[in-house]
Amino acid sequence: MIPFLDLKGLNAQYRAELIEACTRVIDSGWYIQGNECKEFDKEFAQYCGAKYAIGVANGLDALILILRAYKELGIMNDGDEVIVPSNTYIASILAISENNLVPILVEPNINSYLIDPSKIEEKITSKTKAILPVHLYGQTCEMDKINEIAKKYNLKVIEDSAQSHGAYFGNKRSGNLGDASGFSFYPGKNLGALGDGGAVTTNDEELAQTIRALANYGSHKKYENLYKGVNSRLDEIQASFLRVKLKYLDNEIEQRRKIANYYLENIKNNNIILPTVRADDNHVWHLFVIRTAKRDELQKYLLDNGIQTLIHYPIPPHKQVAYKEWNNESYLISEQIHDEVLSLPISGVQSLEDSEKIVKVLNDYK
Ligand SMILES: *Cc1c(COP(=O)(O)O)cnc(C)c1O
Repeated sequence: MIPFLDLKGLNAQYRAELIEACTRVIDSGWYIQGNECKEFDKEFAQYCGAKYAIGVANGLDALILILRAYKELGIMNDGDEVIVPSNTYIASILAISENNLVPILVEPNINSYLIDPSKIEEKITSKTKAILPVHLYGQTCEMDKINEIAKKYNLKVIEDSAQSHGAYFGNKRSGNLGDASGFSFYPGKNLGALGDGGAVTTNDEELAQTIRALANYGSHKKYENLYKGVNSRLDEIQASFLRVKLKYLDNEIEQRRKIANYYLENIKNNNIILPTVRADDNHVWHLFVIRTAKRDELQKYLLDNGIQTLIHYPIPPHKQVAYKEWNNESYLISEQIHDEVLSLPISGVQSLEDSEKIVKVLNDYK
């Protein structure tokens, strides 16, 4: 069976260095907010081209804390609106509702799967405070257009970079394309920890300090609390693993790009719609997502031929039980995407033979 993602094989490449990092943490006697976190924050900020990175417990918390910090700074209030794509992983939307803010769904472009900038302005009201573009599947959104709209209406731009570590828009990377950005280091992400992890990046010093305090009980100084904060910290041990894996991230992206290009050039089947890419560098291929009318049938056919695929995602956010208030609304493009998408295997350790087999089996599909 060709696995969707061989996580074990992926981390096995770095086994010796990961053990060394882990040993360093064990022997340091310091397990929370120590040197590994401090160094990782520096290294990750530098990688993204941002001034500040703040390691937190996971990607959802990164997004929650950005919005929470804007509330503490008086920039947002309960009931304010945040624009978000109608097709995203639920966490992008949960971060908004968790803060008593109102998610306003905007349809994606059917070809790029990314929020359609031409549909944003019609959703802006006097309560709109931010746009939360999601660089879904690893491709950056049209940030020039989004930032222009944000500037015109004085909105914050919060990137959901959970799937786009290392992706460029122009000469800037995800994490440095708006006012603040949330990253996830969930094991399956392009930069994955061996457990949960996340980070916020920003160039805004005040925002960075506020988030750092909020994530640490609201405390900027030991036993003094500015805010009613939470405990959302990146572990030393995960930071030490991430420092190892960050060094190889660009190489892994390159491997993914090779597989994606191979798929793009060789999959030839009229029943299958391939993903569209704007330019070379803006896609880091966290997921390679095709579309087809009879998706469940294709998935079963691939499985019968020894190829594991996944669906990102089967149920649109507005059809989730958790968002009952939206269940009667329709977002037709998002619904079509959710009905038709299928993610093919892709990773830094997938062999050429496996990619060849996948292409052959797909091209034989009728
Ligand atoms: C993974 C993911 C998140 C959440 O990250 P966690 O670390 O799992 O909390 C948020 N947004 C998107 C788009 C994601 O893919």
